[in-house]
Amino acid sequence: MSTATPLMRAESVHKSYGTVEVLKGISLEVRAGEVTCLVGPSGSGKSTFLRCINHLEKINAGRIYVGDELIGYREHRGRLHELREKEVLKQRAGIGMVFQDFNLFPHKTALENVIEAVVLVRRKKKETAINEAQALLRRVGLADKFGAYPAQLSGGQQQRVAIARALAMEPQLMLFDEPTSALDPELVGEVLDVMKQLAASGITMIVVTHEIGFAREVGDKLVFMDDGVIVEAGDPREIIADPQQDRTRAFLSQVL
Ligand code: ADP
Ligand code: MG
Repeated sequence: MSTATPLMRAESVHKSYGTVEVLKGISLEVRAGEVTCLVGPSGSGKSTFLRCINHLEKINAGRIYVGDELIGYREHRGRLHELREKEVLKQRAGIGMVFQDFNLFPHKTALENVIEAVVLVRRKKKETAINEAQALLRRVGLADKFGAYPAQLSGGQQQRVAIARALAMEPQLMLFDEPTSALDPELVGEVLDVMKQLAASGITMIVVTHEIGFAREVGDKLVFMDDGVIVEAGDPREIIADPQQDRTRAFLSQVL
């Protein structure tokens, strides 16, 4: 893909729950290979925005494109028609998501967690899926945990299984929603290290995080959201060193 074409493009995205508008016109472009870090106070709409990108939430206005596809809708004669569930699932299969609380299947081993969707959705042969899953688990540092159940793993190990599981689908975009927020402090580093390695390998990532050090070191772009709008966006190092908006400055002074 040409670097001129954004891999993800959100145009004036609005999202309400009942009468409460939580996304008030979000426009954002993410180019292939970029790491975008999304920061902001609790309740500012970060998770909602990520969930809109893979159509776990339906937006009320605006458009979201991932690759060449309009998410959730088909345009026909100037009108938008909602995609059928099967088509939504197909789009979603190309977008990996990693959650704060891992969301592993508790009754499946690390390896079974990683191959599950690959076999069911991608319809890969089980043998191929297993070989690839083993390679991915090695890549996230879990070569000796193929047969372990989630309850036998630390939070950091579980989150690395969740990352391997998302990667197994060969997504064009990876979404991370506070992937280290549920971890004990001593386990945060091992997950961030895996994410750094993914970033270096060229995977396009949108990362909601309070880890400002990660944003500064790994992020190509920092986006500060507050109250459903993007207040400030740009080079992470520049924004962290010299925020232009009062709200950004106030937020950063709390998390730094
Ligand atoms: P963040 O991830 O930045 O903390 P969220 O996207 O989770 O923010 O939430 C943004 C706002 O939307 C909050 O006020 C939250 O209470 C509200 N909200 C989120 N999900 C729902 C829902 N399913 N129903 C109603 N309100 C919701
Ligand atoms: Mg959130």
